[in-house]
Amino acid sequence: MNLFLTDIELAKIGSMFMYTCPVIALILLGYKTALVYGLLNVIPYYLIVNNIDLSLYSGVQHQLSNAHKIIHELLFLFFNICIPLAVARTSIAAKRLNDTTLRSAKFLREKNKLYRTFFTESSKAMLVCDLQGKVCDFNYQADTVFTLSKNSANNHKAVEKIIGSFAKQNADNPVKLVDYKGVCLQVTSKPIPQSQYTVYEFTDCTVERELKSSLLKSKNEIKRLRFFDKKTNLPNKYWFELKCKEIIKKRPSQKHQYYIVVLKDADNEYYQMKYGNDLSNIDISNTYQQLTEIKGLIECSAYIGLNRLAFLTLAPSPIELENRIESQLKPYLESVVEIENKQYKHSFLFGYERLTSGEDDITSVMNNAAMALKQSRKISPIHSYSKLESQSFIEKHEISILLSEAIKNNELEIYYQPKLSSCGQCVGLEALTRWNKSPIGGISPAVFIPIAEEYGMIDDLTDFVIRSVCQQLSKWNANKLSTVPVAINISLINFNRKDFMSKLIEHLTKYNVSPKQIELELTETALEENQEYSLNLMKTLQAWGFAISIDDFGVGYSNISRIAEFPIDKLKLDRSLINKVSTCPRQRKLATVILFMCKELDISCVAEGIETKEQKDIMLNLGCQEFQGFYFSMPLSTLDYEQHIKQFGTNFANQNSPIDSVSTV
Ligand code: C2E
Ligand code: MG
Ligand code: MG
Repeated sequence: MNLFLTDIELAKIGSMFMYTCPVIALILLGYKTALVYGLLNVIPYYLIVNNIDLSLYSGVQHQLSNAHKIIHELLFLFFNICIPLAVARTSIAAKRLNDTTLRSAKFLREKNKLYRTFFTESSKAMLVCDLQGKVCDFNYQADTVFTLSKNSANNHKAVEKIIGSFAKQNADNPVKLVDYKGVCLQVTSKPIPQSQYTVYEFTDCTVERELKSSLLKSKNEIKRLRFFDKKTNLPNKYWFELKCKEIIKKRPSQKHQYYIVVLKDADNEYYQMKYGNDLSNIDISNTYQQLTEIKGLIECSAYIGLNRLAFLTLAPSPIELENRIESQLKPYLESVVEIENKQYKHSFLFGYERLTSGEDDITSVMNNAAMALKQSRKISPIHSYSKLESQSFIEKHEISILLSEAIKNNELEIYYQPKLSSCGQCVGLEALTRWNKSPIGGISPAVFIPIAEEYGMIDDLTDFVIRSVCQQLSKWNANKLSTVPVAINISLINFNRKDFMSKLIEHLTKYNVSPKQIELELTETALEENQEYSLNLMKTLQAWGFAISIDDFGVGYSNISRIAEFPIDKLKLDRSLINKVSTCPRQRKLATVILFMCKELDISCVAEGIETKEQKDIMLNLGCQEFQGFYFSMPLSTLDYEQHIKQFGTNFANQNSPIDSVSTV
């Protein structure tokens, strides 16, 4: 090329190549960069095309002949490589910076958005306050609670007051409850870092507070129910046990001198029946109050149920304890009270037991003291616990359970003991209940009848006897077996029941039995209780045709005047009197007088419990017309009685009972 072209022409052609970079840039980096490249190359291009020799200005021409070439090459390099490189470097750095700034701006934007979401859309009321508690920002919930947008001046002040008082108190505790217009708000504060603002969060916890308070109330109620009696509102036995343990623990050296005393008003049942439970409860509360007020005797006291109070006391000996109860406590408690214009004097019964093994056996000692209380009577009101007595009490209780079952399941039987005329003819029968098939063997009526009375089963038992007798009589009537009256023992409790007569008639009617076939055996005590009522009932019964006899006459304090007052058909002289007539002349005289009295009053007499011929002869000689006893016949089962009637008729005189060899049936 150099052969045809001059240097300057070559340079001009070469300078054309300066635009290869902008072309490449156009292809690779876009038109903007290409344009910049193009512009950058304008200066060297211009210099080369116009053959402007810069070496002339610098004086380099003198030392270097091709200096202008080198300068052109340097310009080319400078404009096409160094400047673009510098520009590229700078633009990359700027781009990077720009990216970082954009990223952090985006992050901040998102964070702000998130914060706004938390703040504005939070279900909690939120306030942003400055150091003085002035509200600077609030969310929708806060506006709903404090109505900050409406009537803002007043509401702001009210809220600032809350914040102010809260801010003072919350140094240690960042959570606090405040009441605002009847709403309970839980306030939490969170200072915004590196600012003078604090965010206050308000949570409505009215429901939670109500729940908590009702939970507390129910907890207290549960505690009250556990340790306090519902009816009287007095501390109960559980409380008493805990309190006793606590007291005894404090003085272990005296632990064997502690006694638990259980007491009750002797007439409480009467007051309860007459005036109702409410009055009886008031009475118990008053007594409890008195116990807590008496000084130096009682350590602690409580109501242990069933109208009984218990207290813990210290005493050197049981005698000393009884002395203290007798001389200090009884006179203090036994005041005169007025109920419905009537004056009553309280009398109390006590049972006690010593704590032997300290605090652990409080429950059993209390139960023993309560057991001892059962033995107390007005005549001997203070009773200490005795194992034997309580054993018999337990037995009695267990028998009562079995008896109740036996009555329900018709396990009792009726035996009949003949009553005989002087010539040995059966003139009547006495129905005697037998419980031969009890799970613990045969039990005597002398045992189970008092239990039936005590445990409220005597009405059912008597009902069973009357029903069975009527049923039997109706069978015998139908079979023409016996027409003699049957005597039924009636307890004092039965006789005083208002429906006694109606029930009796009901059974008679059901089995078509005449009242003339029934004799009612009452004890004197049955007549003592409610004399006017008894008199009227006896008259009515007699008018219906029932015969009435007084059983066990001569036992205890027999009231002769009562015999004259009441319409009595028969008097049954007790066995205790009969078995002495043969040995004791004075008893014989007594029997003579009674028989004379009965003759005068037109009352027939029956000698009960005749066991020997001698007894029978003496009583016969004294004028007695009716006899009953093992000498003639044991009480017989229906089957035995029927067999006898079939075999010997109503004659029991031929029965030569070898009395010594028979055992009680
Ligand atoms: P009670 O009514 O005086 O009956 C007479 C008791 O004396 C009967 O005792 C009878 O078996 C017994 N006895 C009869 N003759 C003799 C005799 O010669 N020697 C001896 N040692 N005893 C004789 P039981 O059956 O054990 O009844 C005792 C008491 O139980 C009865 O005395 C009566 O008060 C009561 N009882 C019995 N059954 C009933 C009943 O169904 N209802 C009620 N309320 N009490 C009844
Ligand atoms: Mg009897
Ligand atoms: Mg009797």
